[in-house]
Amino acid sequence: MKFKELAEYYERLEGTSKRLELIDILSKLFKESDAGEIGRICYLIQGRVAPFYEPTEIGMSENLVAIALARAFDSTKEEVIRSYRHLGNMGLAALDLANKKKIRGENLSVSEVFDRLHSIAETSGEGSVDRKLTTLADLLNDLDPVSVKHVANIPIGTLRLGIGDPTVLDALSIAKIGDKSLRPILEDAYNKTSDLGFTAETFYKKGERGIREIKLIVGKPIRPALAERLPSAEEAVKRLGDKFAAEPKFDGFRVQIHKNGDEVHLFSRNLEDMTHAFPDIVRAAKEELNMESAIIEGEAIAYNPVTSEFLPFQETSKRRRKHEVEEMAKKLPLVVFVFDLLYLNGKDITELPYLKRRKHLEKIIHRENLIIRKAEERIMTSSKEILEFFNEAVSEGLEGLMLKKLDSAYKAGGRGFHWIKFKRSQSGELTDTVDCVLLGVFRGRGKRTEFGVGGLLVGVYDEKKDEFVTISRVGTGLTDEEFRTVNKLAEKSRVSHKPARVNSKIEPTFWVEPKEVLEIYADEITKSPIHTAGEENGIGYALRFPRLVKFRGADKRAEDATTVSEIKKLYKQQYKKKNS
Ligand code: AMP
Repeated sequence: MKFKELAEYYERLEGTSKRLELIDILSKLFKESDAGEIGRICYLIQGRVAPFYEPTEIGMSENLVAIALARAFDSTKEEVIRSYRHLGNMGLAALDLANKKKIRGENLSVSEVFDRLHSIAETSGEGSVDRKLTTLADLLNDLDPVSVKHVANIPIGTLRLGIGDPTVLDALSIAKIGDKSLRPILEDAYNKTSDLGFTAETFYKKGERGIREIKLIVGKPIRPALAERLPSAEEAVKRLGDKFAAEPKFDGFRVQIHKNGDEVHLFSRNLEDMTHAFPDIVRAAKEELNMESAIIEGEAIAYNPVTSEFLPFQETSKRRRKHEVEEMAKKLPLVVFVFDLLYLNGKDITELPYLKRRKHLEKIIHRENLIIRKAEERIMTSSKEILEFFNEAVSEGLEGLMLKKLDSAYKAGGRGFHWIKFKRSQSGELTDTVDCVLLGVFRGRGKRTEFGVGGLLVGVYDEKKDEFVTISRVGTGLTDEEFRTVNKLAEKSRVSHKPARVNSKIEPTFWVEPKEVLEIYADEITKSPIHTAGEENGIGYALRFPRLVKFRGADKRAEDATTVSEIKKLYKQQYKKKNS
């Protein structure tokens, strides 16, 4: 396919925010794509040249892109920047320039454009800035105006069509067989590899059978299994059966350790490659783990080596900074409590029952007091035992418990009752907080003007519609420091219009790209006509007296926030509780 044709699709995709229309346009695009290019097209429609987990960024600032545009179209950097400020988008500024110069372009193929963009991302070392500039300017010069518009947005990460992964998977199925029925197996393959391009290419090259045969691959992160919540220990026992496992719930950050010989990769819960941020864990994985290959999941938590106490989440999260990593590793050592084993010596073992995976895990992690440790596990049979262990865990400063079904397979990318979480909350009851996505910001009045932010519009994820719906306006619970942090975060992801997948009846002062996940504590979930979460006949759900508990940082993606169906369940659970 010619890039010019893809650019026309970008135009059509940009023109709608309706999911059904997006699927329809995408499936037509996919129908016209062949096996050699479908992978690249899947990355390009998300404005990338690699899967999300790969730290392959084109990494050019607005300034550099402006210089490249100026070089390509005989203008000056200042003029490009002026036009960019005026039009509010680099692509529009680029289109304007390209139109003025009346270029026609060379009709490059999608693969050629992709490869040239990819080569910019690969350029490093001395003189790389100039080489990146030249490659981009040459590329822009070879394109038609509409292609220029979209390519100019890719290096600075502003090509935002707002297409979610489920939409791409639906469209792939429709493109090949005319309906969505292959979506579940495509999703399964995607959950195992987190790589849309790879999934699409395998589907095009090897068909449905090829997709079904996809197994875990060391080096490609697995979309993590998620836990459900229930209102009481009794309810949990009903779900888990006669015998189940309980583990402490550590309040740190999730880490996936991938080891293949001497090569180690670490991935965060939201699939970011964080190998370079944690040299201490990488060293431990090399020295303490003695198997040929493995994928292990655990929770990293900071601890005080003198007193052997766990440190609160706020301390642990200081280790997420990307600079001075060695100094921080000394100052705030981490331990990783591993709780699952997904792959061992060349074999995907996610289909084995939890108990068997745990046995394998115990065989490979058997020494005490190292950096990589086994999470404690107790097999139990009653709600009384749950509550005893819960109190013990909480008194040690932990967050609560994770209860696990003994015979369940590992459910990549899925929430289910095979894992049930029991968390401590401010009131000491077994309730839970809600993970909300930051959608918009209200300007502050009075003292808060100083921070730029007065209130936050937050939402949850509607997994059926693949969109973000509003649930609350949060104004309290933030310290001055947090107001400043939120202001910085919001400014970074500020956008000029309501993003494509946001459904809201409220108009904040400005919108932000749905990215940041905030953990919110509320007194109650109520029904409200102003919010769109779970809306039926004009009435949605809302949080009453919301307070910010913490920023989830890079720990969760927007799509990992609490979902509408969870909110519905929480609403019902609190109702049950009040009446019991
Ligand atoms: P939440 O983020 O509240 O939905 O809880 C799920 C998270 O708890 C997981 O993503 C892990 O990061 C964390 N976690 C802590 N301890 C465990 C454990 N023993 N088993 C599984 N997950 C755990």
